[in-house]
Amino acid sequence: MLIEWLCRKRKVRTRVEIEMYAAEPGPMGVAGPDVSKAVREMVESKGIRYFPQHQVTSVDGAARKLKFANGVEAAFDLLAFVPPHRAPRVVREAGLVGESGYVATDRATLATNFPRVFAFGDVVSIPLALGKPLPKAGVFAHAQAEVVANNIACEILGKGRSRRFDGEGECFIETGDGKAGFGKGNFYAEPLPAVRIHNPSRTFHAAKVLFEKYWLTHWF
Ligand SMILES: Cc1cc2nc3c(=O)[nH]c(=O)nc-3n(C[C@H](O)[C@H](O)[C@H](O)COP(=O)(O)OP(=O)(O)OC[C@H]3O[C@@H](n4cnc5c(N)ncnc54)[C@H](O)[C@@H]3O)c2cc1C
Repeated sequence: MLIEWLCRKRKVRTRVEIEMYAAEPGPMGVAGPDVSKAVREMVESKGIRYFPQHQVTSVDGAARKLKFANGVEAAFDLLAFVPPHRAPRVVREAGLVGESGYVATDRATLATNFPRVFAFGDVVSIPLALGKPLPKAGVFAHAQAEVVANNIACEILGKGRSRRFDGEGECFIETGDGKAGFGKGNFYAEPLPAVRIHNPSRTFHAAKVLFEKYWLTHWF
């Protein structure tokens, strides 16, 4: 959507076709069908063609062609591609990963099956009731890190209250034109995550800018 906005700003939008291919059945499916539908509508309302269930099998840079597992091929002039996501080699070679390719943990304490080893963030896979894993997002990595740090400190000091990660999370969805949508909720809710999506507005975009500024000044 930001690319689409950039094309409009540069007054070339009428000469550009934007297509989005994804392996998933719908965008943000893990947040539930209503959120997924709303995000898809946001994308398609901008004239971006969305192709779900297209798993890339190869990219031919010289010929500028994509091939998908379902036999479809697509041509491109400019490709914005998310490379395969996997646990770092050191984690895989240490034998820490399970069948999912990521580390299995207790979803509340982030304790692994290995004594005194905790794992959180993108390196873990936490199954949810709807059959998909908890999304890999910084907002979860942050909250999980605080739970683990707190609980290790409690154990070492022999005092304090242990904490549990509760699956709460939120994210901004940049839509261009200085606007962003906002999704927030509990991803551990059952049978489906209880996530509410707010329509794009300038307020959410401004909130995202402030959030980023806070992080950069607070931590770096
Ligand atoms: C384009 C993009 C947009 C995103 N947008 C959002 C968003 O809007 N909101 C959100 O919540 N999340 C977002 N995310 C997801 C978020 O960035 C990740 O979920 C988060 O960074 C995970 O944190 P982490 O600490 O688990 O892993 P990472 O941030 O990946 O940190 C792991 C670190 O380990 C290092 N490392 C790996 N191997 C070794 C080794 N052998 N020795 C030493 N170091 C090693 C890596 O270099 C890396 O620095 C986005 C991700 C991408 C790629």
